[in-house]
Amino acid sequence: MLVYVLPGTLESREDDLDLLWEAGATGLEERGGLIRAYFSERLELEGPLLGGEWTEEEDRDWQAAFKRDLRPVQAGRITIAPPWLADEVPATQLPLIIEPGMAFGTGHHATTRLAVGALSNLDLTGKKVLDVGTGSGVLAMAAARLGAALAYGVDIDPLTIPVARANAEQNDLHAPQVQFEEGTLNAAEFAAPADHSDLSNQGYDVLVANLFAELHDILAATYLLHLRPGGQLILTGILEDRLDVVQAALSREGVQDTAVELDGEWALVTGRK
Ligand code: SAM
Repeated sequence: MLVYVLPGTLESREDDLDLLWEAGATGLEERGGLIRAYFSERLELEGPLLGGEWTEEEDRDWQAAFKRDLRPVQAGRITIAPPWLADEVPATQLPLIIEPGMAFGTGHHATTRLAVGALSNLDLTGKKVLDVGTGSGVLAMAAARLGAALAYGVDIDPLTIPVARANAEQNDLHAPQVQFEEGTLNAAEFAAPADHSDLSNQGYDVLVANLFAELHDILAATYLLHLRPGGQLILTGILEDRLDVVQAALSREGVQDTAVELDGEWALVTGRK
């Protein structure tokens, strides 16, 4: 890999960047006060304007490096692993196999781990669980592994739904137990999953949502509409310094028994309707 390294930052040398692109650079990055311009062949770039040096560096296959560095992730009773590490899931753990990189939710983010851990603390046997913002489907699938009779994931981003469905297939989780649909919680858009139309009246036993503090504030009242009395709320995606927004929303809506768990800068809040 050929790199032309020149002093400066992308900002301070903005005017020179066009020269590099025009000369055929395939990529530019800034590291430690130096600009690194990647080329497929060595060129005459010795103009006084640039003043850089050519270096030849070992090629790095970033995809391979990323895969090599990935480890299975344990959260409560569940271990999430990519397909090529499926054999490394301890026999004492419930496995979830997720192909990374397709949608948010590989278990490598603290918020996903917090939510899987919180689901894992509940007895979900025969329960109905709604996962709002399902991404890869990880939380709905975790709920199903933990014994939920229905794990229903919705996401506003249509691209996530085929990914979540493929992940469920890979984990041998099927409808009617596990279902995914594009959508959010607005009454007009929200439909109970197939074979579970009675849910519109009864409400779910558990609602889990890994979104962000301000959205939890907006959706708090709607969450409660979808929960049965006594149902469990599990909210994450909350930066610790935005925790007060969520706590105020839950107190406003009369949520009981709230508790907070932290992982680094991320928080998870649980409560009961
Ligand atoms: N549930 C996965 C997890 O815990 O790893 C993914 C969480 S990811 C942080 C948030 C997901 O919520 C994204 O897939 C995004 O498209 C979805 N989302 C954002 N706003 C939403 C909304 N209003 N209703 C439903 N889904 C939403």
